[in-house]
Amino acid sequence: MSRTLRTPEDLLAERLVPPDAMADLRALSGRYAISVTPAVQARIQAPQDPVARQYIPDGAELLTAPHELDDPTADAPFTPIKGVVRRYPDRALLKPLLACPVYCRFCFRREHVGPDGGLLSEAELEAALGWFAANTDIREAILTGGDPLMLSPRRLGHMLDRLEALPHIELLRIHSRVPVADPARINPAMLAVLRREKPLYLCVHANHAQEFGPEANGALRGLTEAGVTLLGQSVLLAGVNDSVEALEALFREMLRHRIKPYYLHALDPAQGTSHFAVPDDRALAMLRALRGRITGLAWPNFVRESTGGAGKKPLGPSWEPGSEDFR
Ligand SMILES: *Cc1c(COP(=O)(O)O)cnc(C)c1O
Ligand code: SF4
Repeated sequence: MSRTLRTPEDLLAERLVPPDAMADLRALSGRYAISVTPAVQARIQAPQDPVARQYIPDGAELLTAPHELDDPTADAPFTPIKGVVRRYPDRALLKPLLACPVYCRFCFRREHVGPDGGLLSEAELEAALGWFAANTDIREAILTGGDPLMLSPRRLGHMLDRLEALPHIELLRIHSRVPVADPARINPAMLAVLRREKPLYLCVHANHAQEFGPEANGALRGLTEAGVTLLGQSVLLAGVNDSVEALEALFREMLRHRIKPYYLHALDPAQGTSHFAVPDDRALAMLRALRGRITGLAWPNFVRESTGGAGKKPLGPSWEPGSEDFR
């Protein structure tokens, strides 16, 4: 368990997939990258458990449902310059690379992410940073990708330095799977560049309490000690966290690590992901059952990315005046 698994053959050798799945997995592996880090492998207790299902490819990914899209978030019309997405007046995304520590089987950017994809060249990065400098109404720079914590501390530190130095940038934010999926990257050099003058919010992606192991605990502790504010981001996934008990355990686990649950995303209709879909009425019923049962600190915003590019829409549950029920 000392190296990252990247091929169907690697998964077979570790008995994470059965031999009769290999034909499907070989067909899939040309299209969607595979990565299972040692930290993730250590959290898998059984085939098809809530950790395995997130990262181990499955023949069901070969099926594309009619409503599934190449690019569910429709970022293209909101891209003023390569690597930047601006959909809101006060904040914009910077996507410095498209590599991730793991390749989630439900990823909404699965047609774009991959180990050799999308690193901005020096000139492209310079132009993107120039865009942030010129657009003085942007208050918050949000690094995403791919996963920004896959960058070397030196490169990431350079970007954060440049953004933080802009007088109009008040907030820095990073969205990352690394603290949970590849916690070894949160080493002292990385912690040193994440210690900032301006507030840095780190939105940690995790979907099940079982994903949090001892190394993740250490990484998250180091991040809070560096003054980083931790937020949680999860996706509601059939067979992973689609029960009241699993959601409660996930949000409570996050809070124990000083992570405030921020977003629970409804699945985006990326290709080959329909086996992860949870109907909205079931989702709302689960959330309704949670309300009041868990501390309000654990309560995330349940949202769906609208496919037309209109941004994240809250889905509820809502409370009608005059009614006792959440819906
Ligand atoms: C999600 C997203 C953001 C951040 O939105 P918040 O609601 O502030 O978390 C910003 N820009 C784009 C394009 C996004 O998709
Ligand atoms: S880490 Fe995020 S961007 Fe990367 S594969 Fe997983 S969901 Fe997609």
